[in-house]
Amino acid sequence: MFTRRQALKTAALAGMASLLPSFLSKQGVLAQSPSPGPTIQGAYTLPPLGFPTNALEPLIDARTMEIHHDKHHAAYVNKLNELLADAPVSLSRRSIEDLISKLDAVPEKIRQDVRNQAGGHANHSFFWKLIKPNGSKAPKGDLEKEIVSTFGSMDEFRKKFNAAALKVFGSGWAWLVRTPEGKLEIQTTINQDNPLMFGNQPLLGVDVWEHAYYLRYQNRRADYLTAFHDLINWDFVQEQFTK
Ligand code: MN
Repeated sequence: MFTRRQALKTAALAGMASLLPSFLSKQGVLAQSPSPGPTIQGAYTLPPLGFPTNALEPLIDARTMEIHHDKHHAAYVNKLNELLADAPVSLSRRSIEDLISKLDAVPEKIRQDVRNQAGGHANHSFFWKLIKPNGSKAPKGDLEKEIVSTFGSMDEFRKKFNAAALKVFGSGWAWLVRTPEGKLEIQTTINQDNPLMFGNQPLLGVDVWEHAYYLRYQNRRADYLTAFHDLINWDFVQEQFTK
C-alpha cells in the first residue's frame, strides 16, 4: 500500500517543491492567530475567508470569526491530513465532497475520525461561502418558487428551518437539502456530519455548535439564527440548487 506519508517523502527526496506554496500560504494564515496545533502538510488546505473577520459585525463578531476559521476549521484540516498520512494515497486525491460522500472507501480503523474531521472541513468550507457581509436578502427565480411551493412561504421556511436548528441537541448543523428525488427538505445532522453522507445535496446550512455563536449570543441560539438569515448569500445557494 502506497500511503500519502510515503508519497510526501518521495516527493521531498525528488526535490519537488510543488507542495510548498499551499503549505506556506497556510502558515501565513495561521501566523495571525493562536495556533490550532502543528500544521500538517497534506492534501487538504484551509480556504481563506472571502472577507475580513470583522466584516460580519455586529451580527457575528470578529473574535468569533477568527477562532472559528483560524483555529477550529484549521484544526479539522490538520487532523484530516494527519489521519490520511498513512492511508492509501488515492483517498487524498479526492475532493472533500467526494471523500465524505463515500466514507466506505476509508479504512475502518480511521473511518469515524475521518468522518468527523473531513465533515468539519467540508461543512466549514461550505459555510464561509454561504454567508457574506449584508447577505443577499432573498432567493430568486426557480429556487424561490421551489421553497415557497415546498414550505408555503419564505417566512414559513425560515420558521421551520429555525425550529429545526433550535432542536439540535448538542453540536450539529441544520440544513436545507435536495433529496435524490429532487425534493427540498429541512434536515439536521449531529457533530460534523454533512447531508452528502446520507445521499442528499446541501443547499444551505447553519452551524449550531456553540463555538459559532457563544461569545456574542451565549445561550440565545434563536438570536444567532435570526442574524444568520441576514447574512445568507442566496447567490451561493442558487449555485448549489442549479448544480
Ligand atoms: Mn463550526
